[in-house]
Amino acid sequence: MDGIPVKIIYSRRKSLSMKFDKTGTLIVNAPSFVSEGEVRTFLREHTRWIRLNYVKAVDMARNLEEHEFKDGGKVLYLGEEYGIKISGRGRIVKSGEGFLFPEGSTQETYERWLKARAKEYLPLRLRYRAYEMGISYRDVRISGAKSKWGSCSETGMITLSWRLMMCPPESIEYVLIHELCHRIHMDHSKVFWAEVESRMPDYKKHKKWLDDHGYLME
Ligand SMILES: [Zn+2]
Repeated sequence: MDGIPVKIIYSRRKSLSMKFDKTGTLIVNAPSFVSEGEVRTFLREHTRWIRLNYVKAVDMARNLEEHEFKDGGKVLYLGEEYGIKISGRGRIVKSGEGFLFPEGSTQETYERWLKARAKEYLPLRLRYRAYEMGISYRDVRISGAKSKWGSCSETGMITLSWRLMMCPPESIEYVLIHELCHRIHMDHSKVFWAEVESRMPDYKKHKKWLDDHGYLME
């Protein structure tokens, strides 16, 4: 109908129903006793619903396609771009020069992997930095906040974004130093920045990378 792909599935059900699948095909579930003519009448009666939902289904199918990882695609990890290959294996494997992704992987699959890496890497680096700087904090939390790479509360709770795992290690260190310096100065005053600079003389370069790549937080 109207160029919309339709697939009719007959079964022992009692009534007609329909829905779009993720490829944008209209799936009609029909009882085995219903004739093709009756199905057509059913579709005609629901033209409005079909047209409206077809647009949504196609949009969604396009989104899925765009985000599905393919051979030759690229991902950003610790500030470096890696080529990706699709393999049948069930999990993401990072080999020296690239990444192997299981079939059907999407941006979401990669983000889940990044979150797991963040939980291993960031608390460890923060502990090391704090020790080296002689600064204490209460605890660390990994979040998916979209507006900040990190933050530090009055009570010494440090929050770090898992999205930092896409940034170069030096930029990550800058964020750790920045948040730890908030344990001395809770603001962004001149003395605060002087403190950061005394701990990381070339911090501006690493801060700039983060400012230039703010879109990674979206
Ligand atoms: Zn700050």
